Order: sequence, then C-alpha cells, then structure tokens
Amino acid sequence: MTLHSTDTVAPPAGVFIDNAWHAPAGGGAIDVVAPATGAVIARIAAGGAADVDAAVVAARRALDGPWGRMTATERGRILSRMGALILDHFDALAALEARDTGKPMTQARADITAAARYFEFYGGAADKLHGDTVPFLDGYFVATEYVPHGVTGHIIPWNYPAQMFGRTLAPALAMGNAAVLKPAEDACLTPLRLAELLAEAGLPAGALNVVPGLGAEAGAALSAHPGVDFLSFTGSPEVGTAVQTAAARNHIGCTLELGGKSPQIVFADADLDAVLPVVRAAIVQNAGQTCSAGARVLVQADIAATFTDRLRAAFADLRAGTPEMDLALGPLINARQKARVEGFCARAEADGIPLLATGTIHPDAPDAGFYVAPRLYGPVPADHPLAQEEVFGPVLSILTFADEAEAVRLANATDYGLVAGVWSGDGARALRVARAMRVGQVFVNGYGAGGGIELPFGGMKKSGHGREKGFDALREFGALRTLVVRHG
Ligand code: NAD
Repeated sequence: MTLHSTDTVAPPAGVFIDNAWHAPAGGGAIDVVAPATGAVIARIAAGGAADVDAAVVAARRALDGPWGRMTATERGRILSRMGALILDHFDALAALEARDTGKPMTQARADITAAARYFEFYGGAADKLHGDTVPFLDGYFVATEYVPHGVTGHIIPWNYPAQMFGRTLAPALAMGNAAVLKPAEDACLTPLRLAELLAEAGLPAGALNVVPGLGAEAGAALSAHPGVDFLSFTGSPEVGTAVQTAAARNHIGCTLELGGKSPQIVFADADLDAVLPVVRAAIVQNAGQTCSAGARVLVQADIAATFTDRLRAAFADLRAGTPEMDLALGPLINARQKARVEGFCARAEADGIPLLATGTIHPDAPDAGFYVAPRLYGPVPADHPLAQEEVFGPVLSILTFADEAEAVRLANATDYGLVAGVWSGDGARALRVARAMRVGQVFVNGYGAGGGIELPFGGMKKSGHGREKGFDALREFGALRTLVVRHG
C-alpha cells in the first residue's frame, strides 16, 4: 500500500514500516469500535512479534542512514513542519479522534492543538540541548554531550491517542532516536494518520515505524525486543510492571507514566467561585479517563457543607453525550472500562457511601454507547477503594480534613503520586502544602490537568518515573556521554 495524504477516516489496515504500509505478517485484523455508538467503524492490523522485529530492523537501519546523519537543526525542521501539517489537517484529525475515542468535539480539537504544539515545541528545542564542560585534572579537557539512546520503543494508551503520539515521539525524534510505536488497540486511528503526516513532513524512512496490535502480542514483543535501547510506556501499573521487567531483562532504561489518584486540597479560605468549576472540570475532562484527573477533593471541615452543596448542584448539571452533542463528557472507551467504573460505584453504594449527585446521559445518546453518568460521593473514608484506586471514570470522591497537617497526610496517603492541587487564600500556607506533596506536579489555586507541553510532567511512587513534556523529556530520550581528553 502506498502513502495517501487525503483525510479519509478509513484507516490503512497495515503496519507502518519504512514510511509505507505493509500487511501484518500474521494477516490478522482488529475491529475498531466507536465508543459513542458501539458500532464497528474500521479494522486495523493486528501486528505481532514478526512485525515488531521488522520495525526494529528498519529503525536501526534509519540510525545508520540519512536520519542518523542529520543535524539536530535538520531534525527540528522536520518536526516543526509536522506541527504545521497537523494544523493544516486540523478538522479531519479532530473528527477522527472524536470518532475513535468518543470524546466531545471541543476536547478532540484541544487534543489536536496539543499534538501540534508538541511538534512545534520539540521542533524548536531539538538543537537547544547541549552538554557541559567539566573542570578536571590539570592537562585534561572534559566535556559532556547528549546522544540518542538508539532505537526507542513507545507504548501508548487510548485516552489521548493524538496527544500521546506527540508527547512521546516528538522529544524522542528531536533527540535523534529512531522509534517504534505500539498504539493502543482501543484507539489508534489518529496515530496511524499522524505517522503518514510525519513522512509527508520529511521524516526519513525507518525513523518512525508503527505496529498496531494487541498489548499482549505487539506490546509485549516490543518491550522484550533485544534491539530496543529504551522504552517509554504510559498505561496501567500492571502493564507498567511487565514493561519495566522486560526492560530490566535487556538492561535498558524506561520511563513509566502509570496514572494517579490526584488530590485537590481546598482550604476554608479558598475562593470557592474559582475552585468549583475547576474541580468539576478536572474529573469530567475526557470522562475522567485522564491520568491527572482530580479524583479526590479534600475539603476543610469548616466549609465542607457549603462546598458539598455547591458541588452537588454543579454535578447535577453534567451531561454525557456523543462527540457531536459536544457536552461536558462523552462515553468511556469500551464496555470493559464502563463495567469497571460501574463496579467501583456499586461497591461504594454497597459499603454505604453517600451518593451526593449524579449527572445525566443525553436521551438521544445511543444505548449501545459506553456512557456513564458522572457521580459525586462523600464523605468517602480515606481507606476505601474509591479514595485509593484509579477509577478512570467521571467519579469524584469528597474527603474532609481538620487542619493543614491532616490535609497533607491524606493527600499523600495513596500509592500514587502524579499531580496535586492546593487552593488557599494564604499564599505561604499554599506554598508549604504544595511543597509537601509527594507528586511530580503541583498546582496552586488552579489545576491544569497535567499542565502545558512546556512543563515537566511525571510521577512519584506508583505513578511511575521519568519525566515527559518540557525540556526534560529531551534529556530522558538522550544518554549523556562524557568525553575526556588528555592534552597536557
Ligand atoms: P493498559 O496498560 O492495558 O494499556 C496501555 C497500553 O499498553 C496499550 O497500548 C496496550 O495495548 C499495551 N499493553 C497491554 N498489555 C501489554 C503487555 N503485556 N505488554 C506491553 N504492552 C501492553 O491499560 P488499559 O487496560 O487500556 O486500561 C486499564 C487501566 O489502566 C485504566 O483503567 C486506567 O486505570 C489505567 N490507564 C492509565 C492511563 C494513563 O494515562 N496513565 C492510560 C490508560 C489506562
């Protein structure tokens, strides 16, 4: 199959190697189900170990060929062109993303803007990362430089396919690695299209290869492949453990982004008019299927009654619908996630946790779609699964605290450590509490749901390790080499 640059929604049913589509070695295919309707809308290739192997070989060849010889400035120019191409194809990409994931059009458009922004940012940053000189013994000159790891393997989830494509690939390519991407079987239409656009932007053959397929097949084969020099994974802690184990066996590094149970701490002196819309948005964005979702609100006991009443009213207004309805949220990604989220809710109700408010599902949303009405629970005991585990749905838990010390203790009392929000009119206290959070990113009097592309992002504890976004992602995708020259 040859490259096509039209904005068709019919995906190429192949694996993308050396800038061309090829039938998968095993010949299998996977149905693509639209979450908004439950209907099969396309078929994608079921890539496997042989395809991963061909992709890794192509990537290695690219490192030894024109891609490996390019200057950082030349690489950056290709990535910048990619940013512009994404914007040229903006509407088609947003429609494709919305169709594949079910997310509201406004969210899909924001995601495509972000995907473009990753390429703009790393296009500009590609030739800005430099090493240092190091004072050493008399008669020596010592310098450090960043070099690419080599072949990088990237495994991404289904919640933000277009954004994840940019987030993990733009810095890896900016650093000069050659990449193999395994997108998620539940949503990979935009990654497949974006791979074609990167070729159109001028990326040499083999610098990016994409093998769609099942996690247990293509994903496991990529993480265990001895020809891969570095792995970047985003998804569940369970699969993260498998990926890191595979990386350890091959003695390579990896970054893991494994989600969270992020707290928002609201002190009695916070400006509730500012807090409420942000707290609400932070749990329904992408129907709660966001690693940095603000899934726990910790409210100071003095204002708990007022805060809860106001949040209840705000929650009851929330409505789920199709991408075209463009409401507060869309469906969940698949029947499994819907059942999982409903399981958390059933358990909470069986355990007697008060259900404070429920949003609605638009009556015209197709019954076969995977819709879940947003739910607000509270007070939730700190040790309950609803306060501890990542639900990955539009379910918000309210907990209360008496004072600053208890707020800090409760906020840190989960296995996760991705993001936190602190809301207070007392700047010194807000700063103190923010700095006591065992998380990779903290917001004060705001909550950016993962923050901008420019801001380093990543976890502590079970949320994973390594940093994505910002300049630090370049360092992750580079190895530091020390050059020692004796001239004396
Ligand atoms: P997952 O971890 O199974 O899938 C993520 C990616 O890993 C997909 O591309 C998948 O194909 C791949 N994968 C699956 N098994 C693999 C294996 N054995 N080896 C290598 N790759 C493999 O996540 P999921 O099942 O789609 O979702 C389950 C839960 O994970 C969610 O409920 C949520 O809590 C969490 N999650 C977190 C994020 C995040 O952004 N941190 C994203 C998606 C899911």
